[in-house]
Amino acid sequence: MSQARDVPLDSHLHTDLSPDSNVPIDVYAAQALERGIAEIAITDHVDFDHRDPAYRFSSFADRERVARQAAERWAGRGVAIRFGVELTYNRTWEDEIRAHLGRHTYDFTIGSVHDWPGSPYRDRQNLATWISGRSDADVVGPYVAEILGAARFGLFDAIGHLDVVKRYVTHHVPTQRLAAAPELYEPVLRALIESGTALEVNTSGLRQGPGETYPSAPIVALFRDLGGTAVTAGSDAHRAETFAFGLEEGYRLLAQAGFEELAFRRGGERVAVAIPGGRGWS
Ligand SMILES: [Zn+2]
Ligand SMILES: [Zn+2]
Repeated sequence: MSQARDVPLDSHLHTDLSPDSNVPIDVYAAQALERGIAEIAITDHVDFDHRDPAYRFSSFADRERVARQAAERWAGRGVAIRFGVELTYNRTWEDEIRAHLGRHTYDFTIGSVHDWPGSPYRDRQNLATWISGRSDADVVGPYVAEILGAARFGLFDAIGHLDVVKRYVTHHVPTQRLAAAPELYEPVLRALIESGTALEVNTSGLRQGPGETYPSAPIVALFRDLGGTAVTAGSDAHRAETFAFGLEEGYRLLAQAGFEELAFRRGGERVAVAIPGGRGWS
């Protein structure tokens, strides 16, 4: 596994305008140029919990200016830079998220569930005790309830790292066992289809504890079986060396599941980006 070459798009990247990244935007752009990746979306964190490090870490105006100016610098050199965002979703923050998206315009929006106040996964010390005696469905249940809300919300272009909860519980619940039960996410996948929200294949899981994409291949296949058509792919890099990491694997997984194009947005209407190896690829 390594940084990908010659894929059309990395739709999920964090720069030093996120609290957990140290990468100046031009470092990604230079790598994209070198690796034959024509388009990247900068999706720095926006959080609504005032205790979170990402809460007002950078202003909309700063993020927009940095992305748009970089886009101007790199357009002539063959790298398209889009101004996106990764919004942390929780059902209790829907009004704030709606207000934020009403005030601010992005090219592309990802909604993700991370930790939230009261989340059982946040207390790592007592996690084993909390998990013991619970079924897998009950272990992922609180997370699934939130991500189901995000899927129904309807204002996101894509949902980020759909089954990332497996990362939080990986020391207690085998990742393979969760991958064998994609039906745990079936209501979420149906909600995505109903709301027209894209399913992201996030390749950061390949370099983290689970060692597989978020979501797992069986969940992507189930999404397809249920009639899902809108998908995206991103590396979720927070470091220069993880730019586009594992992204070829993500594209391969999507092509194998039968998808031919990504559902992306560059502001305005949704656009299709052909998946290498899919039938739409030439
Ligand atoms: Zn995330
Ligand atoms: Zn991210």
